[in-house]
Amino acid sequence: MKILLNNNSLFRALRPYNDVGFVPTMGSIHEGHLSLIERSNRSCKKTIVSIFVNPKQFNNKKDFKNYPTNIKEDIKILKKTKKVDFLYIPKFKDVYNNNKKSNIKITKKNKILCAKFRKGHFEGVLDVMERLTNLVNPKKIFMGKKDYQQYFLIKNYLKNKYKTSIIPCRTIRNKSKIALSSRNNHLDLNGIKKASFLSKSLIKLKKKLKNSKKIKQNLNTQIKNFEKLLKIKIEYLELISIKNLKISNTVRGSRLFVAYYIDNVRLIDNF
Ligand code: AMP
Repeated sequence: MKILLNNNSLFRALRPYNDVGFVPTMGSIHEGHLSLIERSNRSCKKTIVSIFVNPKQFNNKKDFKNYPTNIKEDIKILKKTKKVDFLYIPKFKDVYNNNKKSNIKITKKNKILCAKFRKGHFEGVLDVMERLTNLVNPKKIFMGKKDYQQYFLIKNYLKNKYKTSIIPCRTIRNKSKIALSSRNNHLDLNGIKKASFLSKSLIKLKKKLKNSKKIKQNLNTQIKNFEKLLKIKIEYLELISIKNLKISNTVRGSRLFVAYYIDNVRLIDNF
């Protein structure tokens, strides 16, 4: 695994290859990231992983400052997989040097779920993904369905501008059904128990919703119940069509999307 710390070494390393799979991350590598790397390794000649905590996608400065980082451990884990050819760890100036200001705007119809609550977040995500796509020029980008809205927006944004395909990959969970996330590192044991309870309950709830005629009403009641029982804050819990991300009233072709806070740690998932 070759570590690339600036754009010159990135360009030099990738020049000979035209079948590169790319796994962009913000580090604190876990099994979720590793599953994307495996997919890339299986379908592309070379795999490049990036670690870059993008300040422009954090709508809250404290959240950016507190984002878990552990680059030494990350390098160790990635090396051990033997499935990563290149690890790109750019500095801010490597990504944002061509100082073209971004004029990306999330349209009103897309201001739902996280886009409604995290002002500027997806504008920052689309901007950095476009910059990274230009720098790496991958054949395929592998993204997790845990962050389905992110995948959906990136795919739609990049599909008309680049040849790169965006490949969605399944969500990796632990035994307690919690979706792996770097942010889980901020939870204590009690927090983990709450996240597990909520995840298991939402898996069951989705099954029950198949017979529900009043889905919206049912979800609102569930939000209140979970908040009271677990002493957590649920930002949204919605049944959403995965085709167009619109609110849905049938379980078929839809997923339950949730964002919630446990002890000030914001987590998202979909079931
Ligand atoms: P992050 O480092 O959190 O920005 O995530 C980098 C990539 O890993 C994104 O495409 C995420 O959707 C994906 N990812 C994060 N957690 C998981 C998970 N539990 N299962 C599968 N993919 C994941």
